[in-house]
Amino acid sequence: MKASQFFISTLKEAPADAEVVSHKLMMRAGLIKKLGAGIYNYMPMGLRVIRKVEAIVREEMNRAGAVELTMPVVQPAELWQETGRFDKMGPELLRIQDRHGRDFVVQPTSEEVITDIARQEIKSYKQLPKNFYQIQTKFRDERRPRFGLMRGREFTMKDAYSFDKDQAAAKASYQVMAQAYRRIFDRFGLTYRAVAADSGAIGGDLSEEFQVIAATGEDAIVYCPGSDYAANMEKAEALAPAGPRPAPAKAMEKTATPGKATCADVAQLLDVPLSTTVKSLVLATDETNEAGEIVKSQVWLLLLRGDHDMNEIKVGKVPGLAGFRFATLGEIDEHFGCKPGYLGPIGLKKPLKIVADREVALMADWICGANAPDFHITGVNWGRDLPEPDAVADLRNVVAGDRSPDGKGELAIERGIEVGHVFYLGTKYSRAMNATFLDETGKPQPLEMGCYGIGVTRLPAAAIEQNHDERGIIWPDAIAPFTVVVCPVGMDRSEAVKATAEQLYADLLAAGVDVILDDRGERPGAMFADWELIGVPHRVTIGDKSLKEGVVEYQHRRDAAATKVAAADILAHVK
Ligand code: ATP
Ligand code: MG
Ligand code: MG
Ligand code: MG
Repeated sequence: MKASQFFISTLKEAPADAEVVSHKLMMRAGLIKKLGAGIYNYMPMGLRVIRKVEAIVREEMNRAGAVELTMPVVQPAELWQETGRFDKMGPELLRIQDRHGRDFVVQPTSEEVITDIARQEIKSYKQLPKNFYQIQTKFRDERRPRFGLMRGREFTMKDAYSFDKDQAAAKASYQVMAQAYRRIFDRFGLTYRAVAADSGAIGGDLSEEFQVIAATGEDAIVYCPGSDYAANMEKAEALAPAGPRPAPAKAMEKTATPGKATCADVAQLLDVPLSTTVKSLVLATDETNEAGEIVKSQVWLLLLRGDHDMNEIKVGKVPGLAGFRFATLGEIDEHFGCKPGYLGPIGLKKPLKIVADREVALMADWICGANAPDFHITGVNWGRDLPEPDAVADLRNVVAGDRSPDGKGELAIERGIEVGHVFYLGTKYSRAMNATFLDETGKPQPLEMGCYGIGVTRLPAAAIEQNHDERGIIWPDAIAPFTVVVCPVGMDRSEAVKATAEQLYADLLAAGVDVILDDRGERPGAMFADWELIGVPHRVTIGDKSLKEGVVEYQHRRDAAATKVAAADILAHVK
């Protein structure tokens, strides 16, 4: 590919709504372009990354014996009514009507349709096992689409569904997928962890998430460095002893004062079960005297349960917490640098550290802001004055230093981005939709199922969270938009530079290297800045000076400086 023919569009500044580094860099590098909330154009440069992710996923799925098909994005509601999900699923399910007033859904996942295919096509145990997959557009009307492709509303998922004759076979199919996922995520060159996840009422222990480790991850994961225990926070908490957890001895000494409120007190006060995820807004109010001087400042707690609906706010002044020291508006203003009366205008991401002089281990990851829509900040941790980002995990029922459930050591906590999920389903869908096959004795049996997802468009975002520096993205080779960029300096002035660049470009192409030749005629500074932002891992610079020495300059995106290499040896550096 030649850069003059390709489409390159980089930005100096990221748009204001981009909060995390991957979103900022994807926008600046021209990989994606926003069309609406959680809806993005995949621009040519970004699409190349997505296609590489897809290719790896497809190769490994095929290798694992799965077969590809494609199911419609728009699906008749009848199938979703059969399983009850048309009504049961919340507003995340996008429901639409055609011109005749018939209901449809835009697929957030495809269990219903694949089960419908299976009940028509799979008649005998002889056809089993089968695993079908697609790499297809999904739509979820996420409550809070954010972070660019990380949590989009429209996104691409690889979803696979296994069908088996009995539980043992289904569990074997699950293991085949879990192994394939390890191969896939190894190939992406990312640091990740497979963690046990909650599988709901059915399924026993057979649910794992694949989490790319990143401080900006939305999930907390719990693991034991001394063993292979790893679980997501929900799963870890489900295993932890019920009821208010005794604070760890050390923390107790430091922070708890006898007679003060406990976690359970607060949960009771707020009328929520202890482990409920409650989102809150915090509003500060002032009482002023006639001279306009502030005589009293108070912080109010506004609680939202379930969906973030501004009309259903519960307001309370945290009355039971006598020992709670309300922050003054002045402190809050100073902390956020915002105008009085507002906490945390959008765009400010520092955690609100209102100091409690008692152990008030509430819930974590609160939304905080003034009582007006879109005036919130997220990730606020109310309670003890804790450092970020582990504050979130520290306020949980399971904390770092707890004994691991396998008894082999202490637990550690880190943040992750869920990029994949494997799940044993049992007969939940096949029973609901009467998808049966005839077993060896000729008796109809419900199909045993599993489902397996990978966030194809989330993955590049996770890769960037893990691989970037102040200049831009640093792609792992496997998913870089181009593996090598050839940068001629002064191509228009020097025949030698032009000829060497063209020759090297042709040689690399012939060797099957995904190379781009930057023939745009940009000044070196601008040209290098573009490629460092875009994150192409290998760069070859060709200039008159080095050519006179018989060399070109090679630089990996992680290298601080270039090294001189004979043009003929470049291939060895990039393969
Ligand atoms: P999350 O917990 O992040 O909401 P999920 O558990 O709802 O994800 P699954 O139903 O397990 O997601 O879907 C399989 C995969 O699809 C996820 O592991 C994730 O990588 C990806 N995915 C889910 N929701 C989104 C989204 N809104 N944007 C991009 N990718 C997504
Ligand atoms: Mg979700
Ligand atoms: Mg999840
Ligand atoms: Mg999941």
